[in-house]
Amino acid sequence: MFLDSLSRRRFLHSGLLSPVVAQALLDGSEAIGSEANVSGVLGSDVNLSDHGIEVLFPRNRVPLSFIIDDSTCLVNMGHFCTPQFAAAWPERGEYQKPWQQWPREIPDSFVREFGEWCALKGVRGKYSIVPNPACVGWLDRELPGWSRKQLQESLRLVQELMLPNWDIHPEMITHTRVIDLKTGRPVREIHAGTMENSFPQEKKSVDELAAYLAYALRILKQCDLPCEGVTTPGGFGNQVKSELSLAAGQAVRDVYQVDLPHYFKYVHTDDQSTEPIIENLRGAGTLSPQMTVNVPAGTGDWFGGWQGDRISEPDRYANQDATAGRMVELIQRRQPAVMLCHWPGMYSNGTKEGFISFKRVVESIESRFGKETLWMKVSEIARYWAAKSVCMFRGSTKSLVIECPIQTSIFTIRIKGKTGPVISHGFSAKGDQSIEALREVKQAQQLEGGCWMQEGGDVMVCIDLNAPTIELRFTS
Ligand SMILES: [Zn+2]
Repeated sequence: MFLDSLSRRRFLHSGLLSPVVAQALLDGSEAIGSEANVSGVLGSDVNLSDHGIEVLFPRNRVPLSFIIDDSTCLVNMGHFCTPQFAAAWPERGEYQKPWQQWPREIPDSFVREFGEWCALKGVRGKYSIVPNPACVGWLDRELPGWSRKQLQESLRLVQELMLPNWDIHPEMITHTRVIDLKTGRPVREIHAGTMENSFPQEKKSVDELAAYLAYALRILKQCDLPCEGVTTPGGFGNQVKSELSLAAGQAVRDVYQVDLPHYFKYVHTDDQSTEPIIENLRGAGTLSPQMTVNVPAGTGDWFGGWQGDRISEPDRYANQDATAGRMVELIQRRQPAVMLCHWPGMYSNGTKEGFISFKRVVESIESRFGKETLWMKVSEIARYWAAKSVCMFRGSTKSLVIECPIQTSIFTIRIKGKTGPVISHGFSAKGDQSIEALREVKQAQQLEGGCWMQEGGDVMVCIDLNAPTIELRFTS
């Protein structure tokens, strides 16, 4: 999209653009960006490729991620949630299972085994920590059934082993009973309307929802667990989807002061796009846009399920030679392939059948698509799409200026009709300049941060957007 004169004036008068881009706009040269930059309308109809620019996937690889729901410290949510769900929905057979025979604990030795294997394979994703799991106890205080020392060691394990590769999300406060925020106790009546899975059953304001989310986030903050997002349990927020998006952004920003909140609630199936959705974008075209990113999963849970009692169906994700399955389909369609499970379904009530199946799926995907895919945290995927949606490009014969108020790493673009080598000039907000000669690679599979590659008449560049303005200079 070309900026019309009104938009040009608006940007210039805002005083928020860097000197490079402001001058470009004064010169009347062409600025290209997503529609969101100039009109605030979500969803771009701008075809950057018409302007010779294509934003590719990070390192030109299909993002993979693993979303784990219903995890927490020590408490086996399958065992503790089932009787509480049975009380609220007595007619549902799913809750009449022999939960007493399932272990009450998913031990830290299993967290360690799982986390170490994933770290070795580079698997990344999201790991819920339910702060008051099934009302059993409070992770920042006391967990009846385990000693204080056991609880603290369990939290330390999450901090040391999981945090580097996994986003931590609260999955509301209890994942079972709704908590009265005034008293900190579960509300008295037991029915569908007082279970978090189907809460709220009537309209709630953004502030009311945000207060509920913030309550959960604050407990994790007291456990020294940083969060950039939240996960909704079951059908939480189904009646208030637009309020929920605003509330998630508000609560995460308030409690953690993060610049880019995200949330997980939706599963996209069939032909639906699995790309993240930018919601509630405000301040587009300024140096501090605000938005909330909705990152959907692209699969069902076909491992052991939320009660851990199902036999996994790993082939539904990817079969042995990765020629079929939903993950294969998404990778081949070049869509983010975000897979979903529930933590009890990894442990499988002690047999680890789900985890064994998961390992097979990861290894199958790796054997066929290892060089075309990249495991990422959910927050990393959110950040990449957010940056893509608000950055602006301005091209001239030998250079491309990227104005990006949201920083992200391994940002990868193809620019038509350019020749390397490529020099990257980063301009800080104060005008300081850093210069980096990018390293040439010969194959797209070798692309990583700080690299460029000639592909016929086009140049592919992979850089960290770590300054508000970056100018790429080409040989021609
Ligand atoms: Zn859940």
